[in-house]
Amino acid sequence: MFVADGGKSGLVNIGNTCFFNAILQCLSHIRPLGEVFGNEAKLSSLLNTHSKALGSHGLIAQAYGRLLRDLWQPARMTPVRPADFKRAISRRNRRFMGYDQQDAPEFLEFLLDELHEDVNRVGEKPYAADRAWANFHRRDDSPVVDLFQGQLRSRVCCPTCSKVSVIFDPFRSLALPLPRPRTPCTGQEASAAVGLHTAYELLAKPEVLSHDNQWYCNRCKEHRQAIKELAVWRLPPILVVHFKRFAHGASRLRVTSATTQITYPERLHLDDASGQGRDYRLRGVVCHRGTLYYGHYVAYARHAVTGDWYYYDDDTCRRVSDDSYLGHRGAYLLFYEEDCSVQN
Ligand SMILES: [Zn+2]
Repeated sequence: MFVADGGKSGLVNIGNTCFFNAILQCLSHIRPLGEVFGNEAKLSSLLNTHSKALGSHGLIAQAYGRLLRDLWQPARMTPVRPADFKRAISRRNRRFMGYDQQDAPEFLEFLLDELHEDVNRVGEKPYAADRAWANFHRRDDSPVVDLFQGQLRSRVCCPTCSKVSVIFDPFRSLALPLPRPRTPCTGQEASAAVGLHTAYELLAKPEVLSHDNQWYCNRCKEHRQAIKELAVWRLPPILVVHFKRFAHGASRLRVTSATTQITYPERLHLDDASGQGRDYRLRGVVCHRGTLYYGHYVAYARHAVTGDWYYYDDDTCRRVSDDSYLGHRGAYLLFYEEDCSVQN
């Protein structure tokens, strides 16, 4: 691509695009960069087009490669029109969609970041998850961790520049959100039951961060109401599920779903975001009644030897002969143990 009579064409200004024309021209003369992106065969061998990749799935890298080849056409007499390239970056970042003058250093940072992610060798990132997991285990390693520790992936996306940041956090109980109860005009709460699987899916629903909980985007250099997306990346052998019946409001703790009925199965199959499934069997249920401050807790547990279910209410204990442990209205925490006897 790099020839003596190439690289001498201008770039058409297609509406206040001088900020990126200037950047592109400088970059186009940086040989090691051009040797990667301008070489079609080499680029396609490096492209990170995996569906979970962080970049543009090759969109920007390829558009940039085409632009470079245009700029380096031997003895080209006419300027290059970067419309195709501009369309590509506009699709990734709405800020570049219009014809407003933009900040060149910001654009450079954006472009390099996009190019980097498109050829990122790490992909997204079972590797990063494993590294976070190994780091965690370097500091915390015990039988409790072996049994209860799972891993959450949290993905935050900037609504302005599309910058994505991914972090992995350990958990020992999985807090699941509940849909907000609908209150009909009668003043009584709607009593539609919510299934455990529904709450598990609700956890993964993208959420726009509230105005007072903004995320600092290090590309925009500003706080943004980013879009946050959680996923369970690794399920533990003992899964403790905690339903968020109580939520922190702006000023104080409030009850949001205290009486929402939750249904949950005795035998549970869940898949995590890395594609692994586990089969569980219910071992215990903690139930809550009343308000947060004046409530009462009772428990059901499956006997560790006999396998019978028992009901525990402070100083009383009785055997349960039906399946009432599956239907308590105040179920708050569930204890599931992996059932290795289930064959896939
Ligand atoms: Zn941003």
